[in-house]
Amino acid sequence: VRADLSIRPLIEEAALAEAVRRLAQRIAADFAETPPLIIPLLRGSFMFAADLLRALSKQGLAPHVDFLWLGSYGTGTQSSGVVTMHHDIGRDVTGMKVLLLDDILESGRTLAFAREYFLSRGAASVAIAVLLEKPGKRVVAIEADYVGFTIEDHFVVGYGLDYGDRYRELPYIAVV
Ligand code: 5GP
Ligand code: MG
Repeated sequence: VRADLSIRPLIEEAALAEAVRRLAQRIAADFAETPPLIIPLLRGSFMFAADLLRALSKQGLAPHVDFLWLGSYGTGTQSSGVVTMHHDIGRDVTGMKVLLLDDILESGRTLAFAREYFLSRGAASVAIAVLLEKPGKRVVAIEADYVGFTIEDHFVVGYGLDYGDRYRELPYIAVV
């Protein structure tokens, strides 16, 4: 991977913060009766999850939180199409209302895998929140319940998303 790829900002920090705040308001209202088990999918959603969880706390929601580490991408910009589990969560999900968090919904394979996995393990329900979605790229029939931004078919980095394990630290979303 070259160290000097040019990147172009696409979604600035303030817009991300505003989208996260809006998502938190909706999620907190929808889960006011039964706090969800929120499961961010590692690694890409870690920054979105950190900001969303703090926004949810300000909305008065006190969720359970655990982490699932899945992989499908290699080191480039093309998905391998095969989802593998690198690390499972550490608790029983029976009867829980699960809310999956992911950075971006593209083919849908990752989130479909995670949803089926938790339903098969006895979750009462599995909802999905993504910061970004690329429409027209779905290979599996799946939609998110909460979407921050719908973007065009660009490979994006930053705010947790990587290219060859770089750019995750950017506080904004950029196009490579
Ligand atoms: P899906 O399984 O929906 O095809 O892909 C979801 C995963 O692919 C995301 O969690 C993310 O890791 C990766 N991905 C999809 N599109 C992009 C992109 O534009 N940039 C980056 N960095 N990762 C992406
Ligand atoms: Mg990912």
